[in-house]
Amino acid sequence: MLPGMFRRLNGWKLFFFRMRNGARWFHTCHGDTADPENAMKAMVLNKLGERLEWTDFADRQPGPGEIRVKVSACGVCRTDLHVVDGELPNPQVPIIPGHEIVGRIDAIGADVEGLDMGERVGIPWLGHTCGICPYCRGNQENLCDRPLFTGYTRDGGFATATIADARYAFPLGEAGDDAALAPLLCAGLIGWRSLVIAGIGKKLGLYGFGAAAHIVAQVAKWQGRSVFAFTRPGDASTQTFARSLGAAWAGGSDETPPGPLDAAIIFAVVGDLVPLALKAVRKGGRVVCAGIHMSDIPSFPYRLLWEERQIVSVANLQRQDGIDFLRLAPEIGIVTHTTTYPLNQANQALADLRAGRFEGAAVLVP
Ligand SMILES: [Zn+2]
Ligand SMILES: [Zn+2]
Repeated sequence: MLPGMFRRLNGWKLFFFRMRNGARWFHTCHGDTADPENAMKAMVLNKLGERLEWTDFADRQPGPGEIRVKVSACGVCRTDLHVVDGELPNPQVPIIPGHEIVGRIDAIGADVEGLDMGERVGIPWLGHTCGICPYCRGNQENLCDRPLFTGYTRDGGFATATIADARYAFPLGEAGDDAALAPLLCAGLIGWRSLVIAGIGKKLGLYGFGAAAHIVAQVAKWQGRSVFAFTRPGDASTQTFARSLGAAWAGGSDETPPGPLDAAIIFAVVGDLVPLALKAVRKGGRVVCAGIHMSDIPSFPYRLLWEERQIVSVANLQRQDGIDFLRLAPEIGIVTHTTTYPLNQANQALADLRAGRFEGAAVLVP
């Protein structure tokens, strides 16, 4: 079939597949008939624990309240590894991972307000909330009982295009490079929420100095705080990287900082760090666990928690976090350190992230 013919028939074909497959997308076997302008390619997780597969899809149309975004960059996050490894509950496969999406709107569904064709937007981890559960109504939409998460329970941005709930897309303006902005959508946002929850103390410890910490360090410094960066023991190059971003001190997670910390944020997925961080904070200090998944926390003597030290976790984000952080980011002048990979090299990017082979953040570019 000629592309032009396909385009004319496209609406009917899509209707047919929607009828057959409900709201779920379908893998196309019609590579020779797909509309070349709208055909979509993606790196798909078909089976937990296995490599992502390069897959062709027919074009997708946004439904009511949705937008289609042509992806120009998508960050690779530690959470993507948890999704691929099957470490998160209720995994949904096949799924297109990726939740640090920067792109431009190229189709708008019915009932979408405030967004324009061609506008650059960012799509974060929080992809949808129900709006009616006690958490949504109690201003805690990050804890929604029936959420959808981008790249985990709804298809994400390891693709040339994606469909998003328009209410969860952030306008990004025109300042800044697409790939440089991508890590702000999760590493930056979750880092920001963690920083707010850590409180206003001046001496801040960051355990695990990857994508999130390298952004948070810049924000904290801009706020006039001192950053103490903890890396894997002996990781001199990451310690140097942390100092280059303004850390007052950098050392191994087994080292004692020069004085007690007011708060610590743990970005690494290592439960052993929790008692170490508790030991490093002062009386009344707070330890914030920022990861969605962590290895077991070993038992520790109660005296480490005594004197009103606290351990809290940060889950997901609220849209207000995005609005607050993305408004401030240009003012702070955050510089993200990125390593870009072509989209079809997503497996390599994930492997390099797992092995800690780069500083900062990995970003896929279609
Ligand atoms: Zn993430
Ligand atoms: Zn809800």
